[in-house]
Amino acid sequence: MKAPKAWAVTRGEGVIVAVVDTGVDASHPALANNIALNEAEKNGRAGVDVDGNGYVDDVTGWDFFSKDSNPDDNEGHGSHVAGTRRATLLLKTFLRRTRCQDPCRKTHNNRGASREDAVVKGILYAADRGAKVSNCSRGGAPEAPDYSAVLFDAIKHAGEKGALLVAAAGNDGSNNDRKPSYPSNYQLENVMAVASTTSRDGLSSYSNFGSASVHVAAPGSSVVSAPAGGGYVTQSGTSMATPHAAGAAALVFAKLGSTATPEQVRAVLIQNAEALSSLSGRVKSGFVSLDFLAE
Ligand code: CA
Repeated sequence: MKAPKAWAVTRGEGVIVAVVDTGVDASHPALANNIALNEAEKNGRAGVDVDGNGYVDDVTGWDFFSKDSNPDDNEGHGSHVAGTRRATLLLKTFLRRTRCQDPCRKTHNNRGASREDAVVKGILYAADRGAKVSNCSRGGAPEAPDYSAVLFDAIKHAGEKGALLVAAAGNDGSNNDRKPSYPSNYQLENVMAVASTTSRDGLSSYSNFGSASVHVAAPGSSVVSAPAGGGYVTQSGTSMATPHAAGAAALVFAKLGSTATPEQVRAVLIQNAEALSSLSGRVKSGFVSLDFLAE
């Protein structure tokens, strides 16, 4: 994605990226210094909702499934996603002090199943905590297989608060223009749908596509990242492509400044995507490229 060139310009300082997923292993060495802490809750009295957002002691985030303040990742998906997003921004400072942070949002239970209301609340919570980007890696996930007016409204509201939802296109190898996959198919200007590519720049065999409904593609096959419990593992999916695009969006937000809207950021990424023959007719634009940030 030409990220190293972009890092010379910005590393996404101050931009919060939310991971709406199975939680985050906040103690993983690759992530530990990256968590956006809620300072009011961190410094305030335990057992009190210091910032009045409806959640008691939400220092790192919230577990919308178990309804507690511990969004640890018992499954590993969310941590892998968070690690990818982070590495996108911070490869050069890997394991060192970092600059772009994740508030953890736990909306999926340990088996990856989830309830729609948990996702809705997670997206609203993230927007309220100032997240500019929400990473939603579970395209066609059990919590939202069909169109949901409630989820649509939540994403729309997050957009009005300035947040871009970066969503996985899904892993059915099917055409989202014909058979929609949610949340990536919501017709909102603050939703960016992401397909997956291989290391040879081909569309991954499992990746959903759609020349109208899937905006960009990013690396998703055999992605090394940080699972829950430490160490590193390789995983594949549009789940892995999405955080690459989310990281790119965070860099664009940082570059454009505080007045940037999610619609603008999405448009910039679409406009500057690299046209690849393998993606022609498969996605709206092409492969996410950050080349333009260095120009
Ligand atoms: Ca609170």
